[in-house]
This record gives sequence, C-alpha cells and structure tokens, in this order.
Amino acid sequence: MCGILGYTGNHQASEILLSGLAKLEYRGYDSAGIAVLENGNIKVVKNKGRLQALEAKIQGEDVTGTCGIGHTRWATHGVPSDTNAHPLWSDDMSVVAVHNGIVENYREIKNTLSGYGYRFYSQTDTEAAVKLIDYYYKQENDPLKALTRAIREIEGSYCFVLLFHDRPGEVWGARKDLPLIAGQGEDEAFLASDVSAILQYTKQVYYLDNMEIVQLKGGLVRFFDTEGYAKPKELSEVTWDAQSAEKGGFDHFMMKEIHEQARAVKDTFGAVYHSGKIDLTEINLTDEAISKLSQIYIIACGSAYHVAAVAQYVIEDLSGIPVRIELASEFRYRNMPLDENALAVIISQSGETADSLAAMRKAHEHGIKTLGIINVVGSTIAREADSVFYTMAGPEISVATTKAYSAQLIACYVIAIQLAKVRGKLDDARYEALITEIQKLPEKIDEILDEAGVLKRIAARFVNARNAFYLGRNIDYAVAMEGSLKMKEISYLHSEAIAAGEMKHGPISLIEKGMLVAGVMTQKNLYQKIASNMLEAKSRGGYIFIVSPRGCDVLKDEADFVFHIPETDEHFTASLAVIPLQLMGYYVAVARKLDVDKPRNLAKSVTVE
Ligand code: GLU
Repeated sequence: MCGILGYTGNHQASEILLSGLAKLEYRGYDSAGIAVLENGNIKVVKNKGRLQALEAKIQGEDVTGTCGIGHTRWATHGVPSDTNAHPLWSDDMSVVAVHNGIVENYREIKNTLSGYGYRFYSQTDTEAAVKLIDYYYKQENDPLKALTRAIREIEGSYCFVLLFHDRPGEVWGARKDLPLIAGQGEDEAFLASDVSAILQYTKQVYYLDNMEIVQLKGGLVRFFDTEGYAKPKELSEVTWDAQSAEKGGFDHFMMKEIHEQARAVKDTFGAVYHSGKIDLTEINLTDEAISKLSQIYIIACGSAYHVAAVAQYVIEDLSGIPVRIELASEFRYRNMPLDENALAVIISQSGETADSLAAMRKAHEHGIKTLGIINVVGSTIAREADSVFYTMAGPEISVATTKAYSAQLIACYVIAIQLAKVRGKLDDARYEALITEIQKLPEKIDEILDEAGVLKRIAARFVNARNAFYLGRNIDYAVAMEGSLKMKEISYLHSEAIAAGEMKHGPISLIEKGMLVAGVMTQKNLYQKIASNMLEAKSRGGYIFIVSPRGCDVLKDEADFVFHIPETDEHFTASLAVIPLQLMGYYVAVARKLDVDKPRNLAKSVTVE
C-alpha cells in the first residue's frame, strides 16, 4: 500500500527519490526512508512520520550518490518507528532493501537464519527477507542467484527493491502480487510502485510480470524469470501526464478530482463508443459471448462495491440477466456453487486490490471468464483478467475515490446497455435514447458542481455532528452507501447507509435531534416510500436532507433542505446523485480541518488483505 522507488543514473539519487516519494504520499504511509550507494558504502536515512521530516534529516547527512532506493511505509508488522522504517539492512550493510507487502513465513525464515547466527533488530517481516537474500548473496556473490533462491522461499505478497554494496550503479527488484514498474530515461532508469512517482522523468515504462526480477544497471533495464533466465520485454508509453498528478489550483486533490468527473465520464464512454454504437469487441464482450452468459458476478471492495450495487439494478433491469454482487473479501473465502457460464466482473481503481485479485483468481480456478473494470493500465488485475474495460479517469490521487467511481459507473452502464441490446431487450429507439442520456451526463455533473457553494453552507452545520444516516431504496440505496462512505472516510463523522425500509427494524432508535439524515430519492416509483421513511426520521428530530431530481417536489415543504439534481434516465441517476454527497463529505472534512486527501489509517490502493 506504500510507495517504493529505485533510481540509477547521473543525478543525485536522494533528490530524485524524495521528489518521487512525495508523489506517492497520497497512498498513505507512516514512515519514510532512503538509501544511497556510493563507493561500496550504503548510507541509510529514515524516520517515522512525514517526508518533510525525512527531508530535514537528510539535510544534515552526506547522501551523495547517483544510485539509491526509497520507501514510504504503511506498517503491517511492527509499530511505525525509526527502527522499523525501511530501508532495512543485513548486519554488515551489504544488502539493503525496501519492501511493500507481507512476508507471511517471516517467523520460519527468522528461526532458520537465527540458527546461522543472524540477529534481528526490527519487528518487521521485511528484515527476515533482507537477511535471507543476504544469506544467499554471501554464498553466490551474485544478486540474481541470491534473489532467485530467496524468492523460492519467501511466501506472501511482495515487491522488493534492493542495493548490494559491491554492485555500483545497480538497483535490483522483484515482485509478486504487488505492483512494480520500471522506467527508462536517458542514461537513467527507475523502479516504482506507481507510475506517478516517475512521470516527471519519463513516460517510457516496462510493466513487470508477476514473479519477475529486474535489474537497473548503467541506465539499462533487464528482466529475469525466477530461474534466472533473461526475459525480453516491450517498452510502453504512459499516456497520463505529470500535471494530472498535480493539484492544479485546487486546495485538495479530492476537489480537483471531483471536478474532473465530467471529463472522466466523457472519456470512459468515448473509449467504447464509435460511429454511433457501443463497441465492446476490444473488451472481448462479443455478441456471441453475451448470448451465452447465464449470469454475472460483480466482485469488488469499498466504493467499487457500491458501483457494483448500482450496476446490479441497472443490468438486471435493462438486460434481464441475473446479477450477484459480492464483496471480494467475502467471496474469496466462501464455498459457494459457481456457474461456469457466468462472467465475473472485477471492479478496482488500482487493479491491485488484494482481495479483488484473489477473488478473480478464484473465479479463474472455477473456469469462469473474468472482466476487469480497472483504471490503472498494466496493473495486476488488468493483466490477469481475461479482458479489461479501462476506465479513463486518469490518475486518482485522493484516497477517497470520486472520479474513478464515476468512470466505473459508466463502464457498468455501457455493459448493461450492450447486454440488453444483444439480448433483444432494447429496440433501436430506446438504445439511442439511453446513449444520448449518457452523453448528457458530463454537462449535468458540471451543473451540479456550479451549485457546490450551497452544500458548503449546509456542511458547516455538521462540523460537530457525531452521527449521520444515508437512506435510499434500490439504486438510491447504492448511492446512499457511497455517500455515507465519503462522509465517514474523510470527515470521520460516523455515518451509516441504510436501506430505507430497514429503518424500523432497528436504526431508527438512533435518531437524535439535529442528526443528519440524508435521503436519496431518484426513482419515481419509490418517492412515496422513501418520503415516509424520511418523515419518520424527521418526527424524531432528524435534519432531513434530500437529493432528488428537479421535477420532484415530494417533501419540498417538510425537508430541511432539498438539493435538486438535473433529470436523467432513472438508470443513471447515481452518476448525478452522488456528486452532492461527495461534496458534503468534502466540505465537512474541510470544516473540521482534516487532511482530506490522506485520511487517517487509510491508503489508496489496498494491497493487503
Ligand atoms: N510488511 C512491511 C512492514 O511492515 C512492509 C509494509 C509496507 O508495505 O509498507 O514493514
């Protein structure tokens, strides 16, 4: 979940590492460090806390050298501390490494190595792996051989980037189930867990396959398999630009990304809409494949799961194909009958979400075809899925997702329309009408953003609130889940999404005077149902906040506040109703003076279980 970097070239490594790590800060971390190799010595500087503290510490040290590694840690084994911060080293400083992920068998490795006289100074799992590599390096005197031997023993998921004291100008890396890319510059080369860390230096990258080893040397990049055989690999060009990973005048990435949603929606749709038609051939969703489908499993975590919840209603309603949605962390450990003729759709912004990846592999084991809806090109899920629908959100930096969520919704609408069309559930006129509605969403999203100021004023009322409820039914319940998550994850205001019909089965007892009760109300056939639930909350003191389309005047007199969104086809209302809810979460967090882009305890891509 943290950031990892390697550099070798003609520039001072410490500067490149620090600026690259700063680009990875958004992922969430608790400590940071770098190591630089010069004249056979490896110098390490690291500390608990923010990068600024590391930068200050580096000022007072001699870290001259043009080859180095860097890390931001998100502790899994051992408290955040100076000692546990990476890089970690072998006793004689001959091998120094940074690591993302978890070494699951670190206890066994430690026990074995203790028998050979190794001592351990940190609480991390990482140190066991570093010392195992050191153990083999001492026997082989060859980084590649040491790594291939160590990797055969290390269990878990990892990405290592290493320096060997007597290998000047060389940086080594290896990955399993966690991302690592190599960047090729002019006479310089990079390793990074995330392309945004090196975009300012190069757009030419290699995506490492799982279980691959990489060597940077003399500005060149070479790859090896776990047997130590060299592997050819093609260079790819990254289309994101460095600016898209900057704040661009907004106070926070989150607000910038909220404002990028219209473009993300437009680009995601544009990528699959050609000559007046949706075209999913590149995604392998051919008419033949669609006609054979018996059902769809949509598997995801967090906000992507909330997209799945919307998609379930939209796909079933338009196409009649049964959809089952699953939390990836539940699905992966569940023993359930799975249908071979189903399609498993995995939604993940990063394409690295550990549970989603494991769930996808489980689907493969059952002979089920998989389709990834993924934002990060070249990510593990994108590479392992049978086919990929890339969302065109661009780099999403804020931990709380907004534009990737919106782009994922579009991917699901497109799939729903195509399924319905191929299954003969849509005539041409209805098909055209739905497409036209999707094409109008971007301008409607921008219309909502023009009214953000009013939400800022409402949000100010809740700066000291302790609880909130978000209610909805069907699609509106799915939107309520996302709205509620946005509120709790960045503002730390405890909030719950409730299927409105469940209120009387318990939650209503929690309503107190002045408590925010947000109701999403976009489905005409359910207006009155949800209105009754909102009134029940009001009569117990709740502050009633409604999101509904312009034409709807239900509760206009009773609600404390109604936010009207533009009208659209009822299948697509989630794309509009979510916008004011994102803004509410954002404004409450800002009013509480919280770190909006990096909420406590959270990380951007959840690469551990
Ligand atoms: N498991 C390692 C540790 O706790 C690495 C964690 C990370 O991915 O940052 O130090």
